[in-house]
This record gives sequence, C-alpha cells and structure tokens, in this order.
Amino acid sequence: MKGQEIMEQMDSYVMKTYARIPVALVRGQGTRVWDADGREYLDFMTGLAVCSLGHCHPKVVEAIREQAGRLLHVSNLFYMEPQGTLARLLVENSCFDRVFFCNSGAEANEAAIKLARKYSKQKYGPGRYEIITTERSFHGRTLATLTATGQTKYQKGFEPLPEGFTYVPYNDLDAVAARISDRTCAVMIEPVQGEAGVYPASPEYMTGLSQLLRDRGVLLILDEVQTGFGRTGQLFAYQHFAGVTPDIMSVAKALGGGVAIGAMLATSEVSSGFEPGNHASTFGGNPLACAAGIAAFTAIIEENLPERARVMGDYFQAKLRSLMGAGSHIADVRGLGLMIAVELSVDATEVARRARENGLLVNVIAGKILRLLPPLTVTEDELDQAVAVIAKAVQETAA
Ligand code: PLP
Repeated sequence: MKGQEIMEQMDSYVMKTYARIPVALVRGQGTRVWDADGREYLDFMTGLAVCSLGHCHPKVVEAIREQAGRLLHVSNLFYMEPQGTLARLLVENSCFDRVFFCNSGAEANEAAIKLARKYSKQKYGPGRYEIITTERSFHGRTLATLTATGQTKYQKGFEPLPEGFTYVPYNDLDAVAARISDRTCAVMIEPVQGEAGVYPASPEYMTGLSQLLRDRGVLLILDEVQTGFGRTGQLFAYQHFAGVTPDIMSVAKALGGGVAIGAMLATSEVSSGFEPGNHASTFGGNPLACAAGIAAFTAIIEENLPERARVMGDYFQAKLRSLMGAGSHIADVRGLGLMIAVELSVDATEVARRARENGLLVNVIAGKILRLLPPLTVTEDELDQAVAVIAKAVQETAA
C-alpha cells in the first residue's frame, strides 16, 4: 500500500483516539525508520521509549523467530522457561525479589496499586488504601491509573473515578510529609516525569522521600515504565540516588525490545500480599514476549547501554545547550541520560513538522516542548545531525 492508502484505511476504520502524524511507517533498522513512500527518518521517538535498542535489534528478532517456531502461548497455570528466566534476570539486576508479568505500563501500575493496597490492608487494617501521587504525573489510561495520573485533562469525562488517590507537587518533600495519614498505603512517583515534559526528580527529594516513607511505614512505588532499562543512564533510574530502596517498581516499554510486555517487581515482604487468585493476566509473561524480553535485557546489559545513555545524553544535552542564548527561542534543555526535553518559545508542533520534513522524528508535549528519546545505541554523528535539524527548524519557525 502507498502511504496515502494506509492513512485513509486507518482513518476510516480505527477509533479516533490519536491525533496522528501524517506518516505511515513500514520498516525500521537501528536509529532509522522508513515510510511507505520510501522516505528515511532518524527516529528520536523510538515508539515513545520502547525501541531503546534501536529498531529490529538482530538478537531480539532472532529470539522472537526462534520462540515463535517453538511455543507462542500457554496459560499461566503452567510453568514455562522464558518467564522464569526473565524474572530471574530482572531480580538479579535490581533490588527486588519477585516479578508479576503483564502487557503494558498501565497494567504494571494497576498491579502495583492492587499489591500496595492488598499488602497494606493485610498489615495495617482495611482503612489503609490511599495512594499519594504527584501533580503532572502520568501513570496510564486504565481507570485506576488515570486517576493516579495527576493531570485532570486525562480524567475529564470519565468520572466517577476510583477513590483513594491524592496529589502533591513533585519534588516537594514537605508536601508529601504533610499529606501522609493513617489512610496512606503508598506514594507512587516517576523518577523523571516523562509525559509531562521530562522533569527529573532532585537527588535530595528521592533520597529524602525513601527515608521518610521507611520511617512512616508507607510503601514507595516507582513508575519506571519510561525511565527503565538504561534510558536515564542507569539500568533503573532509582539507582542514580543514594539509599533509595523502592518497595515496588513498574516497568514496560523497553523491556520487550519492541514487543508488548510489562512487569511489576516487589520485595519478597511486599509480594507476600498476593496469593494465588489475587491477580492475573492471560497474556502476561507469555513465552514469546518473555523470549523478546530476555534478548532485549541481555543486549542492554552486554552492550553496556545504560553507561552509553549517560555519555551520549551528556553529549547531546551539551550540544543542545550550545544552541541556547539570546534569540535562540530555546528556553530550556533538561533531562537525564537520553530522556531529554527542549523547551521552546516558538510553536513546537511546527518545529517538529519542519524537523520531519528534514528527516527527523521528534515528539511534542504541550505545544512547546520537544521530547527527544533516541535509541540508546545512537551515535555521536546521528546526535549531531539531529541538533542541526532542530536548530534549523526552530530558526525557520521563528522567522
Ligand atoms: N507510566 C509512565 C511513566 C509512562 O510514561 C507510561 C506511558 O507513556 C505509562 C505508565 C503507561 O504505559 P502504557 O502506555 O504501556 O500503558
């Protein structure tokens, strides 16, 4: 099909829940994707932090091929090798002891919310169910996770929302301390707020929060759906911060190297809140997704990609900052590792459109922020190309 036909078919038959970019992508390799009409782009969106290994990493593709010919799916009522192996890898490389598998970030957070409530009620009594989240957060689109999301624009029209969520400003330890009550079972935060526009937590906040919650017997849930698997320059973002020991962590996105999979990890103490029958997912942890996950996770570690994200992220941020100054129309450059925002004083949607015309795909947030999520395998040369395209697009938009 030609690009136009692909777009018309989707516009006719798929529900209109996305304001789509008028490009039909058909192929990807490394940092590059191609549209149906043969145009090549540098992909700095990576499926929104999913393809951190670049598109179609050969080891992930091979693992999927091999597993697809052997066993695609069996019920979670049976044992299966790939699920156990992936769980072991996750546990051996984090501070957690047990893993529950699902299919997305929202499901991982949903599982985290359920486990936090179940464990806390068991330990402290039925009144202990409230979860404190932060303003500007994003935790998913299911009813519970959009309620956990501290942005009313995602909640409007879906009321009544589930009970038991309350919001405090991000990076404000006093606000959390003041909000904790006998009802509080957990605090749930992103180490870097991604969907809101890439706002990193301060080290004092993360370390102080972990200590505060330990002292008050409140669980710390880290949403690492976007920050996990090397994106920020550590395998998991909490590893940037001294003494931070979360009780529960949700992950998804990059875990499957492009295949849908999510996971919720917890300490053995907190995991004891779940018994057989308490939570389940038909597809969660299926052999195909786990085989992809094993290959992706192994490649991320073997290729030392967290360290590479740190080095390349510093390089990219420095280059982007060098564009700033009077008349640059760049108000801020911020981020952690290869999770970077460029805040503009001109229309970011128009900048992204011009960048696309010059072969670079970038994400726009709130009409004024470019979110840059290149693969962790990106080269200096590709980063230089992106900086040049962005600089040109900003100047043309401002002219
Ligand atoms: N949590 C965070 C921090 C996210 O960035 C996202 C998605 O962008 C989600 C949760 C939801 O993940 P999913 O879209 O896989 O349900």
